[in-house]
Amino acid sequence: MSRRPIIAGNWKLNLTSAEGVELAREAARAARDADAAVVLFPTSLAAPSVRRALDGTPVEVGVQNVWYENKGAFTGEISPALALAEGLTWAIVGHSERRRIFGESDELAGRKAAAATAEGMKVILCVGETLEERQAGETLEVVRRQLEAGVIPVRAEPLPESLVIAYEPVWAIGTGRTASPEDAQEVHAFIRGWFRERFGEREAEATRILYGGSVKAANIAGLMAMPDIDGALVGGASLKADEFCAIIRYKEL
Ligand code: PEP
Repeated sequence: MSRRPIIAGNWKLNLTSAEGVELAREAARAARDADAAVVLFPTSLAAPSVRRALDGTPVEVGVQNVWYENKGAFTGEISPALALAEGLTWAIVGHSERRRIFGESDELAGRKAAAATAEGMKVILCVGETLEERQAGETLEVVRRQLEAGVIPVRAEPLPESLVIAYEPVWAIGTGRTASPEDAQEVHAFIRGWFRERFGEREAEATRILYGGSVKAANIAGLMAMPDIDGALVGGASLKADEFCAIIRYKEL
């Protein structure tokens, strides 16, 4: 089964609306007739302007985080319904920075993923081990635990179109250290195997599994050559137009 790759840019806490709109227009030019679908994650403040600037292009825009209730006394949060009302169709859930800096648990990631998909959003659920966990040989155990907590609440049978997994080893995020294509492939194959075990062959074959962790133009082609790597969640390199456009058009590298 062929899975359409996704190249997603996580801008984190960077770029004003004006800067974001400029970068998004360049990404949209690169995305024209590219193989991969492109999704941008600006700050929540910039996201609506970036979305409007992309009208008439296939590039989609999402939010970097979302709460699991649609409205109420949740100061500082944004909800799936409000994001969708702005045309923001994707949400990142369980990013390691949310887990590590903001203390979000596996269980919270599952609640958020379930609420967002139930509302009609598409979710990128991030999983991945720390350096200590890798060195202790616990990588697959950690990833399994995060999948159980993050995917199972979504529904008995997740929809491959609306639930995408990003394997992001924490030690590779923002550090310049990338997992080798072979090391990443091992974990991606494990994740696909977990879906097969839980939901069957069709679901497993249709689910997109992205890699994230210091992806750049120089390493994207090697990663994308792996059979179970279906795209990338790109942080730092998604802020540089030339670099990100080259990643979007990785087939031509
Ligand atoms: C990320 O933020 O998800 C990420 C992978 O960051 P970077 O590409 O900078 O490592």
